[in-house]
Amino acid sequence: MEDNLLVSTIEFPSPEALFHVSSPCLIAGPCAVESLEQAETIAQALVQFGVKFMRGGAFKPRTSPYSFQGLGLEGLRILDYIRQKYGLLVVTEILDTRDIDLGIRYADMIQIGSRNMTNTALLKEVGRTSHPVILKRGMMSTLSEFLLAAEYLVQAGCRKLFLCERGIRTFEDSVRNMLDIGSVAIIKRETSLPVIVDLSHSLGRKDILVPVAKAILALGADGLMIEAHCDPAAALSDSAQQLSLPELEQFVDAYNEWLGINERRDTIF
Ligand code: PEP
Ligand code: MN
Repeated sequence: MEDNLLVSTIEFPSPEALFHVSSPCLIAGPCAVESLEQAETIAQALVQFGVKFMRGGAFKPRTSPYSFQGLGLEGLRILDYIRQKYGLLVVTEILDTRDIDLGIRYADMIQIGSRNMTNTALLKEVGRTSHPVILKRGMMSTLSEFLLAAEYLVQAGCRKLFLCERGIRTFEDSVRNMLDIGSVAIIKRETSLPVIVDLSHSLGRKDILVPVAKAILALGADGLMIEAHCDPAAALSDSAQQLSLPELEQFVDAYNEWLGINERRDTIF
């Protein structure tokens, strides 16, 4: 990593310090907000399972212009209603500098997605606000480029920042993206930035979530992001990778059990 980057010299608050949630934290919810009923059903399950953050896209960065693009402002209003009614912290992606004010008004954290990691105009504008941000790693970006993108946010004033490793494109096709767990260890070693891992967009499959989650938590990651939907088969985006609500419950149970078992993990690993 380049020397004297702000990201390596500044103390960043942990999820616990920022939001009073236990650490590591879970961020779960649908790929996209599709309707009030869908969002509310998922929110009720999150509350029941003890998940504090709900993710949900209102503006979706889709590969095809013919795919569902998200509900836009209506989706943000649904998220706002949900967080007020259920006390959940809401994370949503903003794609366009013109929508930053809406993101600030309606969400607790603004996500800058993989496809926008190098959008320096967006990074600067979002960084100028003091709003909490999740910056995802670009799918074609090196770790050093990822940290430089974070530097744009931090240089503009952002101090409430989580980095999100979500895998990079390789020739391997057994997973959607290749999860780079070394990057999590390096970010933890070289900065105080909280790092979370998006299991869904990295793996793109549901059958190996628990063992991979354990590996990530053993690295000292600050949280996990995971997609969940009340009817994955009918989801308007990322149908194959979204957990059903019973599957999410099982995952959360395994996660809690494993964290409990590993209270001594500092001495185990
Ligand atoms: C998302 O989290 O909704 C998303 C589109 O992920 P990524 O930017 O990592 O592809
Ligand atoms: Mn998705």
